[in-house]
Amino acid sequence: MSLIVHKYGGTSMGSTERISNVAKRVAKWARAGHQMVVVPSAMSGETNRLLGLAKELTPSSLTDAYYRELDMLAATGEQASSALLAIALQAQGLESVSYAGWQVPIRTNSAYTKARIESIDDQRVRADLAEGKVVIVTGFQGLDDLGNITTLGRGGSDTSAVAVAAAMKADECLIYTDVDGVYTTDPRVVPEARRLQTVSFEEMLEMASMGSKVLQIRSVEFAGKYKVKLRVLSSFTPWDIDIVEEAKSGTLITFEEDENMEQAIVSGIAFTRDETKISVLGVPDKPGVAYQILGAVADANVEVDMIIQNISKDGKTDFSFTVNHGDYAKTMDMLKNVVVPKLGAQEVVGDTKICKVSIVGIGMRSHVGVASTMFRVLSEEGINIQMISTSEIKTSVVIDEKYMELAVKALHKAFGLDQAPVR
Ligand code: ASP
Ligand code: MG
Repeated sequence: MSLIVHKYGGTSMGSTERISNVAKRVAKWARAGHQMVVVPSAMSGETNRLLGLAKELTPSSLTDAYYRELDMLAATGEQASSALLAIALQAQGLESVSYAGWQVPIRTNSAYTKARIESIDDQRVRADLAEGKVVIVTGFQGLDDLGNITTLGRGGSDTSAVAVAAAMKADECLIYTDVDGVYTTDPRVVPEARRLQTVSFEEMLEMASMGSKVLQIRSVEFAGKYKVKLRVLSSFTPWDIDIVEEAKSGTLITFEEDENMEQAIVSGIAFTRDETKISVLGVPDKPGVAYQILGAVADANVEVDMIIQNISKDGKTDFSFTVNHGDYAKTMDMLKNVVVPKLGAQEVVGDTKICKVSIVGIGMRSHVGVASTMFRVLSEEGINIQMISTSEIKTSVVIDEKYMELAVKALHKAFGLDQAPVR
């Protein structure tokens, strides 16, 4: 008998009919002899609806007290869907019980709206499993040390599921979602994109951090840290498909790197419009400047991705970096009003019309010339590269947003991803 965690996204939980289908699928797994823990998201649209209500009433200053209430509010979405699923399972003739995060409890820090899981007490869940119950644990939420309800950031139910799987030492964590796996790139941009049968954990981490929205990045980090066997698969197959087939479907995120993986040099193309570029121009070229600029940005709690410092001319240089869209206005403001005057720099200019395109693959470790192929392909398309960053298994470029699709399509083809054998 194995212990399996299923996670169902908002779309899969979107109506009572769909919840009933989820219950039938879970019942099939339970009847096959598995111990089942299920982590659902809120019904689709519900989290947005709740946060939208709060927005209508938002006070002028956004304090911790306000963010606390946002979590109190948003967490109700998962409480409702979890209870409905437990009821639907009971309707299938199974014993089932649902728990909110605080009842388990799932302990987190106090960073409201983006809390991190610190520990999970598995006693209550284990006792129910031992009694033959299917246990539902709310996604997205936890409890801080002071007894406040917290939430884990948008898409956080993925992380809840993986964390529960890690705490329970589950045999596998299956993430049921509205796509049937992880693709070589977004099929909406490149229809020839192929589903990967396996992807390494490191590749998945790069893809998740670079725009692939299939899994919340923290869930991938968690899976890596605790070696949770993770599979992404479709919740839209008929619930009564053969369980053996189902267990092999989708994309498995693996920790072993097999030979096939090394053969594919590039496994996927990720892209994101979420980034913006900021340049501080005419900065005196002397020790401590990078720190003065980026230290101030970090103090404002803004994450920086790519960084470039140009060569200096006449003792001055330009310094560029990228930040998330959501942090753009605040970072520009801070630089203009605080950093530029202090540094004696010339000016700050920003560009929100950029995108980042990345090639990812563990095969890049053992092959040279992969990045240069990328640059050649982009140049053949007449696309100018504004910034470059590399790691062992990825190369990212910043380009003009209007060339994003063109770049992704050309790279997908150039690296043979539309034909590579599905691995
Ligand atoms: N309901 C939350 C959200 O919409 C968490 C999740 O679905 O993973 O972000
Ligand atoms: Mg999601």
